[in-house]
Amino acid sequence: MPSKKMNVVLLPGDGIGPEVMAEASRVLNWMIEHRGVPATVQEFQYGAEAYRLTGAVLPPATEKALQEADAILFGATGGPEFDAIPKVERRRGSLLHIRRTLELYANVRPIVTIPALYEASSLKNRVLQGVDMVIVRELIGGIYFGEPRGIETLPDGQRRGFNTQTYTSSEIRRVARFAFEQARLRKGRVCSVDKANVMESGVLWREEVQALRDAEFQDVELTHMYVDNCAMQIVRAPAQFDVLVTDNIFGDILSDCAAMACGSLGMLPSASLGPAREGGRRSAVYEPVHGSAPDIAGKGIANPLGAILSLAMALRLSLGRPSEADLLEGAVGAALDAGARTSDIREERLPVISCRQMGDAVLRELDRVEPRFEARAEART
Ligand code: NAD
Repeated sequence: MPSKKMNVVLLPGDGIGPEVMAEASRVLNWMIEHRGVPATVQEFQYGAEAYRLTGAVLPPATEKALQEADAILFGATGGPEFDAIPKVERRRGSLLHIRRTLELYANVRPIVTIPALYEASSLKNRVLQGVDMVIVRELIGGIYFGEPRGIETLPDGQRRGFNTQTYTSSEIRRVARFAFEQARLRKGRVCSVDKANVMESGVLWREEVQALRDAEFQDVELTHMYVDNCAMQIVRAPAQFDVLVTDNIFGDILSDCAAMACGSLGMLPSASLGPAREGGRRSAVYEPVHGSAPDIAGKGIANPLGAILSLAMALRLSLGRPSEADLLEGAVGAALDAGARTSDIREERLPVISCRQMGDAVLRELDRVEPRFEARAEART
């Protein structure tokens, strides 16, 4: 357990980001106060509001804080106000830029179904049983970053938009290695997803993942799947997957699709991790999978559980507090069992509560669960 105080940076960002972050922040404060989590927490400006106040989406003070942070909790980015910012400034401060600068190559998205939310899912109960998978998405390569990119006007007056899908063998191998290591901590199975039947970058992806497995991870079972089949399998039988590893754009799309197994995009947490540096420290951004949800921003109705569960991932992966992560996940489960429902996971006969009330429900369960949790921990020692 680390004794030094960890430096946690909060970036609420745009749209519903500040609303969900406020609840994650209250939970983090609870952890500091009640469980002695050794963290100093500072909030920094980012996004459309930062641009309005400072002329920069990512002000220099924020950029510096990100470099020095032990863990970054991020809300969301994007939306109409963000889109109105000049393109050069948007790109300079974009989330993609942050991910690249911090070398966050591995995005981890756990998809675990919760029986209390079966009703909220568009999938049938029998399909949801036993779903416990992790999507590992390559985050700083592929078509979102590839050059050349742009929109050009052709001699005949038509416009042509283009992007480039590109991967090197080392980019593929480092995220595949991460996925194999995850599998060793779980059920030992990796499914690698590509489009090798029509894309050369997919052929390379498949060859490199297989070669790494054969050379260093023979104890891990590896299968390959085309992305179109994978999208179908995720809604047909999601319980078949353990660790799923894929590129940037496929991971982006498949994880939103898989979100419905959990009832709502608002439920899903994620961690974006960089390479381990000296002393074991690695850059890490924890954020809900959802975006800024402009359609509900400012209404106080967003589901904050994706952000709160992202904090649980931070407790486990950056703050050296796996027991507190378990405690928090238990409290979220207990709040849902007790009937707490925001509108995205609404259920007949249960009242719909606000973002703040969902934060209250989790804090109430933490207060309630903690003494029992403490007693169990003591009994174990
Ligand atoms: P979105 O995830 O913001 O919203 C999709 C749908 O899910 C919307 O109907 C929204 O109301 C709902 N939703 C999302 N989060 C919710 C929550 N916590 N509680 C309840 N409902 C929730 O995706 P979008 O509408 O495609 O994109 C909106 C903006 O967000 C765009 O500018 C996009 O670029 C940006 N975006 C940002 C991120 C990020 O910050 N990492 C991720 C995806 C999209």
